[in-house]
Amino acid sequence: MKILVINCGSSSLKYQLLNMADESVLAKGLCERIGIDGRLVHERPQGKYEASPNMPDHAAAMSVLLDALLDANHGVIKCKSEIGAIGHRVVHGGETFTASVLINDTVEAAIEAVSDLAPLHNPPNLTGIRACKQHMPNVPQVGVFDTAFHQTMPAKAYLYALDYDMYDKHKIRRYGFHGTSHKYVSQQAAELLGRPLSELKLASCHLGNGASVCAIKNGESVDTSMGLTPLEGLAMGTRSGDIDPAIIPFIMEKEGLTAAQVVDALNKKSGMLGLSGVGSDFRDLSAAVDTGNERAKNALDVFAYRVAGYIGRYAACMNGLDAVIFTAGIGENDSGIRAKVCEYLEWMGVSINADANSKRGKAMSISNTGDKVQVLVIPTNEELMIARDTKKILEA
Ligand code: ADP
Repeated sequence: MKILVINCGSSSLKYQLLNMADESVLAKGLCERIGIDGRLVHERPQGKYEASPNMPDHAAAMSVLLDALLDANHGVIKCKSEIGAIGHRVVHGGETFTASVLINDTVEAAIEAVSDLAPLHNPPNLTGIRACKQHMPNVPQVGVFDTAFHQTMPAKAYLYALDYDMYDKHKIRRYGFHGTSHKYVSQQAAELLGRPLSELKLASCHLGNGASVCAIKNGESVDTSMGLTPLEGLAMGTRSGDIDPAIIPFIMEKEGLTAAQVVDALNKKSGMLGLSGVGSDFRDLSAAVDTGNERAKNALDVFAYRVAGYIGRYAACMNGLDAVIFTAGIGENDSGIRAKVCEYLEWMGVSINADANSKRGKAMSISNTGDKVQVLVIPTNEELMIARDTKKILEA
């Protein structure tokens, strides 16, 4: 079976077509600048194709990507009917979705109903679902939620210590994100360690532009650093992560800003970018540190300190730890950050092998042999996880 995975943003649509017989990627690509001037990057193992087709909306982007998949020169299928199912990344499933689901009208309405929790993400996700329905009305579609994996968190982890009415009336609680990635790397970790996932205590660190740590006990998320929105937790590329909430009215008054403007700044002008003044990309930050930039050094120190702090907290929450997992852009590539984080964890028996830590590109342990707490680097693959879930649901 061939499965098309769709990740739809407000002006972009990422796709991947997988052959589930061997889980190989037949083609992948990105339609971006939807509603602006339209740009397509389409890749197959044989090469890359780029174009600037007209893409006024997501339905048009959908036909552009189907044309690319079917094209006589750079296509990979002969007929649309070869696509057996479509798996969609949906950001917020609220408390309604605890696992992936086959999409029907009721599910669509439920995704819409929780959209106020993710106003920037769920509406474009729904647009993607509707565009697929328009072009392939008979192909089953599955929704895979970033939040679903974390629905196993106990109340003590997901409740904010607010007036309980805030939870009762408005569902204000911690949901967590990056669930598809945390779930994928935890399964890979069990394989790498040669132990059943059902017996492991893991701290999974998804460190990309957005970043979160997840405590995974016996295969289930028991806590995670992101909350009601992806703003909570670690200091990120441009997001502040945890701050004293009283800072918000303080900035509003001092800078003459509205609450929405301050929250926008916390999302887009804070974190590594705000602290360093250099940027949000860790390669630029490391280069700045090499030239003696003190603010960039502080930014990276804040980042590593907070990651280590969450790992320590989760080791306590789970009453033990078998492995730390590093994944996503920074986790997979930045050996300096991994080393910095692991320095804080020596007390729990972590030591990393400098030679292993300098390698990249494959799932591996970077610990010294025999260490009690293993440190693993595992490339994430959210698209594969979405495709696997989609296949599982169809077979069921
Ligand atoms: P997202 O999917 O959240 O956009 P990614 O997981 O792709 O993010 O991570 C992107 C980030 O990874 C970049 O902003 C950069 O900071 C970091 N990154 C990517 N490659 C490297 C590298 N070789 N060394 C250090 N950091 C890297």
